[in-house]
Amino acid sequence: MTDDKKESIEHLLRAWGEKPYRVEQVNHGIYRELVSHFSGITSLPIDLREKLEKEKIAFSVIRPVKSIRSADGNTEKTLFETEDKKRIESVLMRHIGRKTVCVSSQIGCPAGCVFCATGKMGITRNLTAREIVEQVLFWNRILKEEWVKETGEKWKPTNPPHGVRVRNIVFMGMGEPLLNYENVLSAVKTFNDPKKFNIGVRHITISTVGVIPGIERLTEENLPVHLALSLHAATNDLRSELVPMNKAFPLRKLMDAVDRFSARSGRRIFYEYVVLDGKNNREEDGEALGKLLSRRLAHVNFIPYNVNPECGKDLRKPDIESIRRMQNILMKYGVPSTVRMTMGDEMAAACGQLANKSDEEDE
Ligand code: SAH
Ligand code: SF4
Repeated sequence: MTDDKKESIEHLLRAWGEKPYRVEQVNHGIYRELVSHFSGITSLPIDLREKLEKEKIAFSVIRPVKSIRSADGNTEKTLFETEDKKRIESVLMRHIGRKTVCVSSQIGCPAGCVFCATGKMGITRNLTAREIVEQVLFWNRILKEEWVKETGEKWKPTNPPHGVRVRNIVFMGMGEPLLNYENVLSAVKTFNDPKKFNIGVRHITISTVGVIPGIERLTEENLPVHLALSLHAATNDLRSELVPMNKAFPLRKLMDAVDRFSARSGRRIFYEYVVLDGKNNREEDGEALGKLLSRRLAHVNFIPYNVNPECGKDLRKPDIESIRRMQNILMKYGVPSTVRMTMGDEMAAACGQLANKSDEEDE
């Protein structure tokens, strides 16, 4: 049994000898009615509700400590504290009719990409599946509360109003999801469960720095999730400089693994490319990227570097013209691309930055 199973409420109820329908009632209360504590699950007999509260079974294993919202109000980020007093973060992006949540998968990250604040923290531990799942549960509860307040209507747990629930999940917060494979997959299954989140696997994106064994496992799994590869450079040498993990999983082998995933799943791969001025945004970088991806089912997401003082002075934000130039080169190779601006500077939203910042403020 994994640690994760041991700590799940479902497992506990079974260990207490509760009937399967009780487990279903609890799940319905947590995932559909979106209650905030056990006593809110009114379908349960009072003695069972009391037992859950009395046994000090944590209703949540992560506690929100601070939230910030972007000026346009569309992006909101919350910092949580785990039971062992570590910090993680999660972001909600609100688009009309579509809500996307960015989740963290580890506390810190061992990959050490040169531009990434999470990478600077090193790795503390993997998140449990429950800690991953509860990030999304938190946002669903917020969305429900807002809707109830706005409309004054009663919540419909079996048929929630359109656009009021999280519909897309991206594993682009802190950590490397494919180095926490079991727990990430277990969370994906909970997200997908029709009785829980009911989020289509096609609405889930796993972003990886390029952990080949994880990509291979995912290919075998035959789950049609979206795969995003954090590429950042199209040549092996430059990539090793920016992404130290490239030394363990070199570019050519990595692309083979990604190609197999793409062939098996039939999915277009998203390539993330953090643009660093003077490092990977020259004309030759665009040409190399175009050549690498021209015969592949690909979409490139350019992300202008979000400045972190702790990542060193030699890393600079690019100007938008240089990104447009890269996009034009890619167009020549028939490779579609977009520039991701949503996680803007104003809230220091690139992964890991909030956790670091508030640590400093609290000290
Ligand atoms: N570890 C995984 C998923 C989390 S990182 C991965 O690397 O894919 C999520 C994304 O945030 C990655 O594409 C990463 O490159 C990007 N990112 C990290 N630091 C950034 C920064 N300072 N500015 C802009 N994007 C950043
Ligand atoms: Fe880890 Fe991703 Fe940050 Fe690299 S970019 S250090 S893989 S979280």
